[in-house]
Amino acid sequence: AGTWEPLYRVVLLGDPGVGKTSLVNLFAGVQERDLLEQRGEDTYERTLSVDGEDTTLLVMDTWESEKRGEESRLGSRCLQVGNAYVIVYSVTDRGSFESASELRIQLRRCRQAENIPIILVGNKTDLVRCREVSVEEGRACAVVFDCKFIETSAALQHNVAELFEGVVRQIRLRRPGG
Ligand code: GDP
Repeated sequence: AGTWEPLYRVVLLGDPGVGKTSLVNLFAGVQERDLLEQRGEDTYERTLSVDGEDTTLLVMDTWESEKRGEESRLGSRCLQVGNAYVIVYSVTDRGSFESASELRIQLRRCRQAENIPIILVGNKTDLVRCREVSVEEGRACAVVFDCKFIETSAALQHNVAELFEGVVRQIRLRRPGG
């Protein structure tokens, strides 16, 4: 038995509308948005088999709740509880890309001493003609912020599995002795 937790909390951050809920739905295997909202849940648990080993992720889309009015308390909680963070922007929305940088800075301030995995995600790559943020800009930003980077399309289900597998690998890299 290791000293590491077998269950990891992954928090999704990012501007409204960038596709966080869509990505979490794909992760959870839920297609029907209505179903999600009826249950009023914003946390999904799934065990992924990555590189021949199972890891359970608890994915929290709690940033959404913040919009419903629990402002700072929930916001700071989000920044405290994650074992890993997925910061999402839309490649069609430069403002969301700028917010992603701000979130990264906030996260660094909150969790200074810790080496937490952060993955920067440029979503909506299917909307080719509406692209405002190039893949090179996304990659460069990730280098500056010392985090991983991936572009996804929730609509085409492109790179979504790879994103969450990447989260698992980043967590394992930081596991004591691993
Ligand atoms: P959230 O507010 O960050 O949780 O964003 P949502 O998941 O609710 O998505 C906002 C809108 O963008 C919805 O209408 C989604 O259907 C749409 N959307 C999300 N991801 C994609 C994507 O990859 N491509 C396209 N074309 N639309 C997307």
